[in-house]
Amino acid sequence: MRTRSADIDDGGAPILGEPAPIELLNTRYAVRGVRYEGLRDPAHFATWLGEIGNRFAVEPTAAALRAVGEAELAAALDLRECVAAVVSAAMAETVPAQAATEGLNGYIRAAPQWRELRWAPAPSVVAYTAAEPVAAALAEIASAAVELVTGTRRADLRPCQGPGCILHFVRDNPRREWCSAACGNRARVARHYRRTKNVAGK
Ligand SMILES: [Zn+2]
Repeated sequence: MRTRSADIDDGGAPILGEPAPIELLNTRYAVRGVRYEGLRDPAHFATWLGEIGNRFAVEPTAAALRAVGEAELAAALDLRECVAAVVSAAMAETVPAQAATEGLNGYIRAAPQWRELRWAPAPSVVAYTAAEPVAAALAEIASAAVELVTGTRRADLRPCQGPGCILHFVRDNPRREWCSAACGNRARVARHYRRTKNVAGK
């Protein structure tokens, strides 16, 4: 569901350094319990994609980002639903709707990639795709989602335990409970408040 808010109109979303599919999932976020849509229009999506652009094997060009329209936004939001479904299923150890897995696979199939050797001056590998750059980026996000739910990091997928937070992260240490230090601080303050209130009530 896409929501609009008069309070935050600059769009965009928190980028936490998580794998790209989790970053996409996190474009839906909450501030003090109010939910926000970080991808409300094509410009928001283009900005977000540009911010993580250097993570892709085939980096979306500036021209491609300028050309992002409603169709690309709709594809991104649809892919986000697919990612949300498979990540939720992976965390709950259930099976996602077939439409979600088929949806993911469709984005991957739509933009095949290959790698070629270059030797100037040193040996290096360069990724190519025949697809539109934005479709290629969505395919990479979809592929990364597949890696995430089939690989060893699946067990580390977590919803943030911060008060009112709806973000997800991939745990990089066994004790991590929060998407960010800010959420950790909020959670500690909330716990402290509950403890002192309980003590005072005795
Ligand atoms: Zn959080």
